[in-house]
Amino acid sequence: GEMTDFDLLETARIAVNWIERGSKSDLRISYEGQAPCMVRGRPGHIQQVLMNLVQNAVDAMDGMEAPALRLDLRDEGGRAVLEISDTGPGIAAADAQAIFDPFYTTKEVGKGTGLGLSISHKIVEEHGGTLELVERAGPGACFRLSLPRGGAA
Ligand code: ADP
Ligand code: MG
Repeated sequence: GEMTDFDLLETARIAVNWIERGSKSDLRISYEGQAPCMVRGRPGHIQQVLMNLVQNAVDAMDGMEAPALRLDLRDEGGRAVLEISDTGPGIAAADAQAIFDPFYTTKEVGKGTGLGLSISHKIVEEHGGTLELVERAGPGACFRLSLPRGGAA
């Protein structure tokens, strides 16, 4: 894929629509800023990152009551910041580094390769952005993706 300016809000919507039909989760997307939220990069690669984060969240909430997934996007001047949070069991501080390692998975054989977060981290770095697990008081996990804004922003 080519480097281009694209709307991160639109990409987030596509990632959520992709899981929407098969999911019982309450799914919400919010955006604080002026639409569109243009970022610079390879939209197909960023879509792959978001789909992995969303799939991980849905997997983590499997079988839980009242699963909820939130994507909160905001415009921070030169950067677009997207937080993906769920109401699953969360990630223990001791595992926070390991989850980004290649082949680290807690899923059954055949259900996860453990490559999703490692590849996602690499893709985001190639975009000059950051992907990190965020410490939060509440239950569940929260990942924060930050990407440079596009020229048309
Ligand atoms: P995979 O999804 O194939 O297991 P990933 O690299 O995407 O590989 O994720 C690695 C591991 O990180 C998962 O197996 C899981 O243990 C943990 N993880 C990722 N996202 C979440 C989440 N939202 N809630 C709880 N655990 C998570
Ligand atoms: Mg995954």
